[in-house]
Amino acid sequence: MHVKLFGAAREVTGSCYLVESSKAKILIDCGLFQGTTLAHSKNFKPFGFASKSLDAVFVTHAHLDHTGRLPILIKNGYKGPIYTTPPTAKLTQLVLEDAAEIMHEEFERSYTPKLYEISDVAGVVIQTKVLDEHKSIEVKDLKVEFFNAGHIFGSVFVKVTSDDGECVVFSGDLGNTSTPLLKQKDFLADTDVLFIESTYGNRIHEDESTRDKLLKKTVVDTIKNKGVLMIPAFAIERTQEILFELNNFVENKLIPPVDVYLDSPMAIKASKIFDAFPKYYSREALRLIAVGDKLFDFPGMRMTLTRDESKIINESPRPKVIIAGSGMMNGGRILHHLVRYLGDKNSTLLIIGYQAHGTLGNHLYQGERQVNVLNERIDVKAKIVSIGAYSAHADQRMLLDWIKSSPKPPKRVYCTHGEEAASAALATCIEEELKITADVPRMGEMIEI
Ligand SMILES: [Zn+2]
Repeated sequence: MHVKLFGAAREVTGSCYLVESSKAKILIDCGLFQGTTLAHSKNFKPFGFASKSLDAVFVTHAHLDHTGRLPILIKNGYKGPIYTTPPTAKLTQLVLEDAAEIMHEEFERSYTPKLYEISDVAGVVIQTKVLDEHKSIEVKDLKVEFFNAGHIFGSVFVKVTSDDGECVVFSGDLGNTSTPLLKQKDFLADTDVLFIESTYGNRIHEDESTRDKLLKKTVVDTIKNKGVLMIPAFAIERTQEILFELNNFVENKLIPPVDVYLDSPMAIKASKIFDAFPKYYSREALRLIAVGDKLFDFPGMRMTLTRDESKIINESPRPKVIIAGSGMMNGGRILHHLVRYLGDKNSTLLIIGYQAHGTLGNHLYQGERQVNVLNERIDVKAKIVSIGAYSAHADQRMLLDWIKSSPKPPKRVYCTHGEEAASAALATCIEEELKITADVPRMGEMIEI
């Protein structure tokens, strides 16, 4: 059995692994390369394998950098199954339809070429088959098993075992330990080889126990200053985690009353999908549901699905909290709010997620005082606050602990899905602390298991 990397090697996006045995050919994830525009030029290059030759595709979770090239696979003639957990199936459809729509908008605005149309996403939906966590399936001489990765709703890591007993685990993205909405990730299954994500391979999140205090302080300060708190949020998971915390603040009267707008059609729809699959919630969330609490609804909370509803936010009095996508501020409704309020010294931009190089979010995170948003030059006067502990990703310590959680440590580890420095730092820690050989593979590299 061998593995070939077709993305997320020495970079964060574009996850795609080809696993080949003597009889079978399967793909783990088929993610989009993301940068300043959604349709990064790398996505237009051929995959490096024949789509039609694949026996099956497995998807770890719904994020675009793990699913965004699935429609291209279908366009290229792939007719086989795409296995995901039931919530991932629904969330992937949502994410891909949204991506197709944004590509269409980018095309209309600046003739940025489109990777695919909304109609191409339909093929993905039709070919999707569900495989739940802790279930396995056989594809010729390979057995593929899903485990809970605790990263976002429905996320899994994948173990592939060949007929002759060789195994490899693909971590997908691994969850932060402090995600109150989700069940904790499973221990690492015993394996010969591990491909592990390293988004935060060189970082330790701040103390998770202080993150709700920081969020509360940021909200209270905004209310005091009569400002606007903008929270660019990833529509899936981060948004629901924040709503879950705000729900707690409001219902327990820990903050003064304030209007909160969820201004993201995708996040609104994703929240409904979460509610349709309660078994993926944590025990704490289930306990609240059992006593009749709606996790994402509280006094002052408004969901603005349509454009007209969204415009109401502009006229509504301050203070107010606006949660809008996209998370890295490279598109979506957040841009309109940034144009309006980034120049206001009483307002705050709260960054709660990873900001890839080249994105507007990264420029702001790095403290640039002048940025271009929707072709407008803006002097940034708003406060920029960031809370790393809201990350949906495990940090360096958690990644190392997860490797240690395996009943039998892997013989070799490959660090992927991280900027080069982050992957290299994690590899060094794995070698020094765990005494396991660790590498940072390159795009296109083939690894014998
Ligand atoms: Zn992810």
